[in-house]
Amino acid sequence: MWEAAKTILKQLFQKPATNIFPAKYAPVSTLSFLDRVARQEVKLHPPVAVPPKFRGKIAYDRENCSGCQQCYKICPTHAIEWLPEEKKIKIFVSRCCFCAQCVDVCPVNTLAMTEEFLLANYDKYADALVIVDSGELPGSKKRKKPDSGAAEEPANQS
Ligand code: SF4
Ligand code: SF4
Repeated sequence: MWEAAKTILKQLFQKPATNIFPAKYAPVSTLSFLDRVARQEVKLHPPVAVPPKFRGKIAYDRENCSGCQQCYKICPTHAIEWLPEEKKIKIFVSRCCFCAQCVDVCPVNTLAMTEEFLLANYDKYADALVIVDSGELPGSKKRKKPDSGAAEEPANQS
């Protein structure tokens, strides 16, 4: 009994183990709260740092994509759409299960899992959740421009 009382008393003066996020008190609407954060009316309580190799929102380096379709074929949730005219892909984050198989299979490292995890949205087709180009990624293998005379031919497009 005394041991239990000691533990309870000790815990009364300890900080909570959970991180208070995104605000000290739960907002009525998280999206409205994030809008107010964007307008700098309130401050976001910082999240805990994500661990190494965290699998957050996917990023896609469109320019350096060779159009090989391997990511499109391996994706278990059909989150990747093949765009035959452009020989590029489009990714629907709302369908992604964050398995990173597309990242692993991409031969030119034009896909990456980022640390971004604040993905709540009322619209699953919102711009933030449909990835068409995230710009150059640190590990991307640069492709030579077609007019340089040494263009890399995309792999089998069928
Ligand atoms: S991470 Fe997995 S589910 Fe998401 S797009 Fe890549 S292969 Fe598909
Ligand atoms: S696997 Fe990589 S290079 Fe191939 S289509 Fe997907 S993103 Fe492009």
